[in-house]
Amino acid sequence: RKRADSKAAALGLLTDIQTCIRTDSLESQYELTANELGRGKFAVVKRCIEKLTGKDYAAKFLKKRRRGRDCRAEIIHEVAILEMARWNTRIISLHEVYETDHEIILVLEYAAGGEIFDFCASEETLTEREITRVLWQTLEGVQFLHHNNIVHLDLKPQNILLTSHNPLGDIKIVDFGLSRKVGNSSELREIMGTPEYVAPEILNYEPITTATDMWSVGVIAYMLVTGESPFCGDDKQETYLNVSQANVDYSKEAFEEVSELAVDFIRKLLVKSPEDRLSAADCLSHPWLWQTPETSESDSCLSPPRRTPGKWSWEDKENMMEDGA
Ligand code: ADP
Ligand code: MG
Repeated sequence: RKRADSKAAALGLLTDIQTCIRTDSLESQYELTANELGRGKFAVVKRCIEKLTGKDYAAKFLKKRRRGRDCRAEIIHEVAILEMARWNTRIISLHEVYETDHEIILVLEYAAGGEIFDFCASEETLTEREITRVLWQTLEGVQFLHHNNIVHLDLKPQNILLTSHNPLGDIKIVDFGLSRKVGNSSELREIMGTPEYVAPEILNYEPITTATDMWSVGVIAYMLVTGESPFCGDDKQETYLNVSQANVDYSKEAFEEVSELAVDFIRKLLVKSPEDRLSAADCLSHPWLWQTPETSESDSCLSPPRRTPGKWSWEDKENMMEDGA
């Protein structure tokens, strides 16, 4: 076990978990709904209802063997990260874990509002004020991870969920399947995310740092404000080329209505050299996220009077700043 653990550590995987893994059947405790919430290469996520409480959860079914390889350690790592982030409200919380012969099932807090992807590539758009609120919360989660030397490595609009869609709720970061511990052990180079969202250093097989996630935050911000994906090409090759040149055209029509501060924010993230990108803490003090509240009519019906039109409470913000200090 020691040998396996040191191998895992070299790969940036955590091995210690506190959660008791249940081996009785999930179905005895939960009613599974037919409703599939999402599906990836090795996971299916379904909504389920806890019989005892009637509460909704999301059950993520993970295959232990993938392409003939035992991936249990990767799944345990995902559990360890969720445990570590247990008290952070921006990261999805883990309720229980089950294991069967072929799968490990993570019973997660249910995010009823779906993916922020719904606001990235459709007619349905958010106001800049709503966007800055979504990004603020995302950055709170990312800052927490980075403080703890965890890089997510798969930040994209499909992995940022919402507690409710309309009215717009709070965000929850999910999917720690590619996340890694950085800093202590040998340099990390090997992992791949989704070409459209990964930073140039990943494509160039250069060391991975927390700045790698910040690139993805830039891509997400770009998509929320323009409704377009900045580097998406006609095929994978073209996308790779666009990313590795970090070539972004801010004079495009899509930017016509976008504020200068928003462009400045995105510009400082979509920078080829990782050292020159804003950190999560830098982003949280960028003026775009701190704009003085406007009295816009379209906004006023959405924001409760106790809150600023930015729609985070000042209390949140103060807590946050203490955290970051
Ligand atoms: P994968 O590794 O397969 O991408 P994810 O953890 O990202 O797995 O889950 C896949 C999808 O399932 C997500 O993009 C999201 O749409 C949905 N999903 C995941 N977790 C939850 C949750 N806790 N609540 C609601 N939907 C979820
Ligand atoms: Mg995912």
